[in-house]
Amino acid sequence: MIVKTERDEIQNYLKDASNFKGTCNAVYFPESESDIISILKEANKNNISVTIAGNRTGLTGAGVPNDGIVISTEKLNKIIVINKEEKFVQLEPGVILSDLQNELKQHQLFYPPDPTETTCFLGGTVATNASGARTFKYGPTRDYVFGLTSVLADGNKLNLERGKNKTKGNQLILLTVKGEKIIINLPEINLSNTKNASGYYCKKDMDAIDLFIGSEGTLGVITNIKLKVLPMPKSKISSVVFFKNELYGLNFIKKARDYSVLNKKEHTDDRINALALEYFDKGSLEFLRNDFVNIPANCQCAVWFEQEINNGNEDLLINKWVELIRSCKGSEENCWFAFNEKEEQKIRDFRHAISEKINEYMAGKKFRKLGTDVAVPHNCFEELYNYAKNITEKEKIKYVNYGHFGNSHMHFNFLPENEKQYEKAKKLYYLISKKAISLNGTVSAEHGIGKSKTHLLVEMLGEKTIGKMFEIKKTLDPNLILGRGNLFNSLLFYK
Ligand SMILES: Cc1cc2nc3c(=O)[nH]c(=O)nc-3n(C[C@H](O)[C@H](O)[C@H](O)COP(=O)(O)OP(=O)(O)OC[C@H]3O[C@@H](n4cnc5c(N)ncnc54)[C@H](O)[C@@H]3O)c2cc1C
Repeated sequence: MIVKTERDEIQNYLKDASNFKGTCNAVYFPESESDIISILKEANKNNISVTIAGNRTGLTGAGVPNDGIVISTEKLNKIIVINKEEKFVQLEPGVILSDLQNELKQHQLFYPPDPTETTCFLGGTVATNASGARTFKYGPTRDYVFGLTSVLADGNKLNLERGKNKTKGNQLILLTVKGEKIIINLPEINLSNTKNASGYYCKKDMDAIDLFIGSEGTLGVITNIKLKVLPMPKSKISSVVFFKNELYGLNFIKKARDYSVLNKKEHTDDRINALALEYFDKGSLEFLRNDFVNIPANCQCAVWFEQEINNGNEDLLINKWVELIRSCKGSEENCWFAFNEKEEQKIRDFRHAISEKINEYMAGKKFRKLGTDVAVPHNCFEELYNYAKNITEKEKIKYVNYGHFGNSHMHFNFLPENEKQYEKAKKLYYLISKKAISLNGTVSAEHGIGKSKTHLLVEMLGEKTIGKMFEIKKTLDPNLILGRGNLFNSLLFYK
């Protein structure tokens, strides 16, 4: 097994895509599960902090070490099984999402969760319960995890299969592969009804596997994953619609969402049923204009939608969407429609460019990314949207606002020009998160809490509830070696 310790060899492992920076003594590159077991046994014995790294595309510092060693999962990159009949795949945690997507295509299958950054590892997506544009129709990663193997801090292994181990009330009994019993008392938490990736999943009568999904490298190293896949749709409509007024765009999303929810329930294939509903505000379009010259001049916002087609009724569905665009005063003549895979990819690139360019801008200024990941119930979304916009415009700080608005999930990103603005933007970011909490929303809908949002988790759930989550961690990782600094505020919990 390779172990790297030289500064220039390990520096890429000391930051993630949000420009969160850390430090460590060595990076280990295990080539098998047994390598991982021996690294953990040694680290646990010597109380050495272990950070598990996927491909470090995370936006919260979760895969960045603040001490000790890093376990990189990049050499564990095999797709073990693709089972077309039973519709599942089994793989190692270091498989790259786009590699899986390409492989599945050969078998006419697809994996729905699609974080915009497709270079992430599947292990990272499970550890953060990642989502993406298609989560609007298909839900987050959690809904696709059939099975997991997790190696605990002491090197013991848990094999978890969905449906095989449910909590009895609030008690969860885990059985290691060696046959040891671990008893966990779960706190009862009023989880947000929105898309959510904030803290451990704790619910009465829940499945044991759900505790580990979204646990951000704090409970064990995921070494094997079994995921549900679906038959690939025959084709897709993909379009970007531009609007002259942002209220028109927001109203378009609202209507498309209402139709989609209704039509999904009725299982009908010949009406509007969006796969994705994504929004870009004026700032986002201005930010992208140099790279995408066909963005129309006088638009205030845009919406990207997709819908799958299975019945050869493309024309009928396009007509339904055009009717909706017209009724919501979308700019019909300026719509972008993708008619093949290449054009579809261009639209995906457009969506990806906005996140990537923001990260570049912030890194260029040597700031950490300041982008919200808040989601609220649909009926509160406009209130949150206007609040964020008003408080930021008052301070004259540049921003872009975009994201998964079909899920009422907003990435409001500050673009400060100097240190003073950056400090002010941090305060505004905090206020927006507090506003989301006051509207029964979440501070993280998909990126997780990591190291950069632990104070926000305290705001959202309270110290007492997080304390109960910390008890779960202590039961599974008594020496607290895994993912130190993630989820649990260091000052409050690692005293
Ligand atoms: C341009 C851009 C766009 C993005 N868009 C989205 C989006 O639309 N939706 C979304 O959800 N995210 C998005 N992200 C964030 C990121 O891609 C996801 O969080 C992704 O799931 C992280 O995967 P990773 O392999 O890079 O993990 P890392 O960043 O390396 O790690 C993330 C966490 O997972 C843990 N972890 C990794 N592997 C394991 C393992 N095997 N066992 C246990 N713990 C593990 C780490 O310890 C850490 O806590 C975006 C990022 C970028 C840069």
